[in-house]
Amino acid sequence: MSSSAPGRPSTGLDVGDFGAQFDDWLQQQPPALRAAQQPHPGTDQHMAAMRGLMAALHEAGWSRYGWPERAGGLGGSLRHRAAMWQALARHGVTGMAAFEHLEVLGPTLLELGPPEFTADVFPRFLDGTQAWCQGFSEPDAGSDLAALRTRAVPDGDAYRVSGRKIWTSWARFAKWCLLLARTGPAEARHRSITALIVDMESPGVAVRSLEQANGRDELAEVTFDDVAVPAGRVVGAPEGGWAVAMHILGHERGTFAWFRHCFLLRHLEDELAFAGPETDGLLEDALLDMASVRAVSAAAVASRDEGTLLGPSAAYTKLLLCSAEQSMNDWALATDSDIAAGPLEGTAEEARAAYFFSRIVTIYGGSKQMQLDTVAKQILKLP
Ligand SMILES: Cc1cc2nc3c(=O)[nH]c(=O)nc-3n(C[C@H](O)[C@H](O)[C@H](O)COP(=O)(O)OP(=O)(O)OC[C@H]3O[C@@H](n4cnc5c(N)ncnc54)[C@H](O)[C@@H]3O)c2cc1C
Repeated sequence: MSSSAPGRPSTGLDVGDFGAQFDDWLQQQPPALRAAQQPHPGTDQHMAAMRGLMAALHEAGWSRYGWPERAGGLGGSLRHRAAMWQALARHGVTGMAAFEHLEVLGPTLLELGPPEFTADVFPRFLDGTQAWCQGFSEPDAGSDLAALRTRAVPDGDAYRVSGRKIWTSWARFAKWCLLLARTGPAEARHRSITALIVDMESPGVAVRSLEQANGRDELAEVTFDDVAVPAGRVVGAPEGGWAVAMHILGHERGTFAWFRHCFLLRHLEDELAFAGPETDGLLEDALLDMASVRAVSAAAVASRDEGTLLGPSAAYTKLLLCSAEQSMNDWALATDSDIAAGPLEGTAEEARAAYFFSRIVTIYGGSKQMQLDTVAKQILKLP
């Protein structure tokens, strides 16, 4: 094991030692951690605090653990990342903001992205300076993603991209978009889609925020008007975008559940302070759902860490995550009167925003009905 500066991780730590050393670092309450622990009145403040935290984690080396050296990491595995975010949640960080995409898009970029480009930009994803977004859904192509209409037309050594994406999380803060676009005939459906990396600062890109029922606005509509994308910025193979999308969705529905559940568990533990003796079974439901998603998502992390792609099994991991997020918030609403009637600021406002958000978690990454359909057909082999 090599030596390290005080407060920085050595390379080659096993997950247990990494977690223990990271915990020590967090106990010192670095200012960036304190900022990320505060309730955030809006999306901008949350994102700013998370950028600050990512910078501090990168500077100290923690967030580089679990990523390969060729992408600016320090080696290690997905289990190190799982341990890092678990510790951050335990220490009061409320969510990952746009850095969710480190676990949704990051593994696919490293496996299927253009190697030189990815190696160049990934360190800036890790240090919080360049966020990413995922441009899949369109107004008429959500569940039926293969119906997407955004076009990428080859033009010399570039593609010219035109079209409209919707519900693009964190687009307003993103430097890069991993975009699905049609490069062949529409009738070929999923066989004529290419995954491209688009610079969100390119001429022709316009982002319009969409305000949600919880008052937050991390979702957006993004339009592309004849945007030039260098031909070398293809992820996977040209016309191989469907495989890229499935690779990403395996992480978004599978391993990501581990990262998300860490924050839900912390929220549940915080809300326990408000719980009365009678919970009408709601607390029991929340605890059971949380235990289920914890077990299944830990298995997903272990399996992915051993190299297995999750495939259809990620669908039930996502379903369990949705149940946990909803039952936890149902119980919180029933027991913490501040959520329904508390001030429109501070932790009451955060808990209320979390409640409203829990109503839409059955939609992102593919709707609940589509996940149930996958479980029925591909896992249970029902007719
Ligand atoms: C919080 C949030 C974040 C998101 N972030 C992103 C993002 O970053 N990037 C991105 O690209 N997209 C994102 N999305 C969009 C999301 O992926 C889509 O909303 C989702 O795939 C559903 O598509 P849709 O909204 O077009 O609904 P539709 O596909 O129109 O579905 C409407 C309803 O019909 C049901 N339905 C449709 N087809 C079937 C069928 N064949 N069988 C049974 N039921 C069916 C659905 O289950 C749903 O209840 C996000 C959504 C949310 C809520």
